[in-house]
Amino acid sequence: MEDLKRTHSILKLGSNKADILSAISQHAPISRTKLADLFSLSFTAVTHIVNEFIELGVVKEVGNGHDIKPRGRRASFLQLNEDYGYIIGLEVTDIRVKSALADFNGNIKAVKRITFESYNKEYLIDTIIKSIESLIEENSISWERVKGIGVGMHGLVDHDNGISLTFPSSEDWENVPLKSIIEDRFKVPVKLDARLYVATLAELIYGEGKYNSDFVYFNSGPGSGFNIGIVFNGEIVRGKDGFAGQFGHLVLDPKGPRCFCGSRGCLVTLASPLAIEKKAIEAVNEGINTSLTAIYKEKGTILFKDIADSALDGDKLSINLIEEAGRYLGLGFSYVVNLLAPPLVVLAGSLNSAGDMLLDTIKREIALHSVPQVYRGTEIKFSSLEEDVAARGAIALIIREHLKQIAEIGQA
Ligand SMILES: [Zn+2]
Repeated sequence: MEDLKRTHSILKLGSNKADILSAISQHAPISRTKLADLFSLSFTAVTHIVNEFIELGVVKEVGNGHDIKPRGRRASFLQLNEDYGYIIGLEVTDIRVKSALADFNGNIKAVKRITFESYNKEYLIDTIIKSIESLIEENSISWERVKGIGVGMHGLVDHDNGISLTFPSSEDWENVPLKSIIEDRFKVPVKLDARLYVATLAELIYGEGKYNSDFVYFNSGPGSGFNIGIVFNGEIVRGKDGFAGQFGHLVLDPKGPRCFCGSRGCLVTLASPLAIEKKAIEAVNEGINTSLTAIYKEKGTILFKDIADSALDGDKLSINLIEEAGRYLGLGFSYVVNLLAPPLVVLAGSLNSAGDMLLDTIKREIALHSVPQVYRGTEIKFSSLEEDVAARGAIALIIREHLKQIAEIGQA
């Protein structure tokens, strides 16, 4: 039998009981035998704990599709009970708010997107509230069934107090107590965290983190989010005040474009989807021969996806733009590799639509600028999670909170 402790990574919640719930949520469907193995507990001890959770209605038994054993005994696997309640998860970027409704097993049932039309504080708060209201109304969900609302927020966040500190596109947004605003309105528990943190959490629970306890997670937006989540020993490194991972603000060209953080030539101003779109539009306006000109004439704008598609079709300007972004990103990642020596770097977000053209450039540049022995064996790969990753992570914030509480009730 394979060494299960080595291959399964578990997001720890603090107590053995809570960790068993965490393992069930992360690795479902999972058998009692496997749980016993992972926690070095006897089968009987695991069964005792699990039965308690089944009685509380938070865990249920399921088959795994090929569950009939030769002697007719049904092999039962465990997962969280999706009917335990609903969770709402929000992803707020500087472009839009996306709200998602999920069951207690974290399966997304409905998603709603509202694009921001203005950036004043009152409007932004109203739009966030409206997105929650309409999600609930359109899906005819009773508030009594909602266990909580998780929010993955653009900008800097005080996650302990639920305060959104900054919203870089807004002029009057400062220290907004978003957690209490949403709680007062809907009377359900709310957890607020940085968008990058919840996206990293989703990768940790549902993606590469299922089998890796050390990795760096990069998310390239949409919008101007461009930071990294650092996962060490199965936990996300927060740094002072939760501000670690400001990868997008590594200065790679001190004379480069002004950044919203106040500095110049930050990586986000050189290689983000928005920065690349801006460069493409400038090139079109300068009359450079490119297939993007037709797109610009038709739509009045150029999106990063258009540039990625044109590059794959062989458009020279698009290829140059993507390779240039890849060089900056690779240079940025060479610092990360040298400093942290991560065994794995996971790339997520809008830039992934550029595919291998971007990935190959990034790898080549890291190799050029990092210590060979440190970089050797480092895996750089695209995330396999869908684009709802931050909303899923926001939902996971609430599920984790409930699992902790349920484990405590079980212990009392
Ligand atoms: Zn900056």
